[in-house]
Amino acid sequence: MTIRQLSDHAINQIAAGEVIERPASVVKELVENALDAGAARIAVSTAAGGKTLIRVDDDGCGIPGEQLALAVERHCTSKLSEDDLFDIRSLGFRGEALPSIGAIARLAMTSRHATEPHAWTMRVEGGRKDGPAPASHAGGTQVEVRDLFFATPARLKFLKSDRAEGAAVTDVVRRLALANPSVRFELSGSDRQTTTYAAASGERALEARIAQVMGTDFVENARPVDAEREGVRLHGLAGLPTFHKANSLSQFFFVNGRPVRDKLLMSALRGAYADVLARDRHPVSVLFIELDPRQVDVNVHPAKADVRFRDAQLVRGLIVGGLRQVFAEAGHLASSHTAR
Ligand code: ADP
Ligand code: MG
Repeated sequence: MTIRQLSDHAINQIAAGEVIERPASVVKELVENALDAGAARIAVSTAAGGKTLIRVDDDGCGIPGEQLALAVERHCTSKLSEDDLFDIRSLGFRGEALPSIGAIARLAMTSRHATEPHAWTMRVEGGRKDGPAPASHAGGTQVEVRDLFFATPARLKFLKSDRAEGAAVTDVVRRLALANPSVRFELSGSDRQTTTYAAASGERALEARIAQVMGTDFVENARPVDAEREGVRLHGLAGLPTFHKANSLSQFFFVNGRPVRDKLLMSALRGAYADVLARDRHPVSVLFIELDPRQVDVNVHPAKADVRFRDAQLVRGLIVGGLRQVFAEAGHLASSHTAR
């Protein structure tokens, strides 16, 4: 028996197995990078549901030429200044996404930083690096990912139809757009149709963005929620019990600005609607939870959107109580039922 260290390429492929499950995971990582770069406009385009092409264009800060090679290296990040894992303000911080994507797909990154006379481009294909080389690009960053999983054919087989993968991409963009109303989003797929969410600003920005993403019929059939318990705040829009869907895809939760899909939150939502909605129907809601970052671990898993609350019962009670209050005020629940 001989013990030896895995090659960087093998390590990156293993990391990719954790972070990159499908085209939508790539879109999530790239759009989060654009948001971290302070972009005001983000354009996402895909072909074949993202299997053959994903392109994300932003007008963020860009990357200087001499940093571009580092950006695609494992564990290289500009976002964790003091190595302080307990004070994370950015969406990314692991420095894992780009090297992982480069290990399993064809990655091309073109970027122009304000201090540079021209842009630079860097390629990584199945782990093989090339660049940086001078390029032409107006400003900001463009990342192109082609042929996802070409370097790991076994994983290619697990992808669903173009349509299903494209729907997952749309879902990711919708979630990130709801969390960032002041950013303009454009999404286009193989059908050449572009969905645009114009930048919303001012006091009603969130409501405007919710109407863009969810439709005005939801906004008209929803009520604002605003509740607080022991420093934890819940706000957003909750659909009236008369407005429901056949599945739970229209339930959006955000914790400190991050989209999450969390069992505890979904179950609290079900609990809140239990008395006012038929068992086989699902409520529609866009709910934001803000709390002290030390009261929640948002990084349970690099790709999964689970969170871990220090006081899960408090959060559950806040959701159930806050929503029931809203239903009672809207005349859907006798106020004596309002759970505390
Ligand atoms: P992380 O986001 O965890 O830092 P990534 O692998 O996603 O790791 O990105 C590595 C680094 O590349 C980032 O820390 C950032 O400095 C730079 N970067 C990636 N995408 C962009 C972008 N769109 N605009 C500016 N810089 C970027
Ligand atoms: Mg990142």
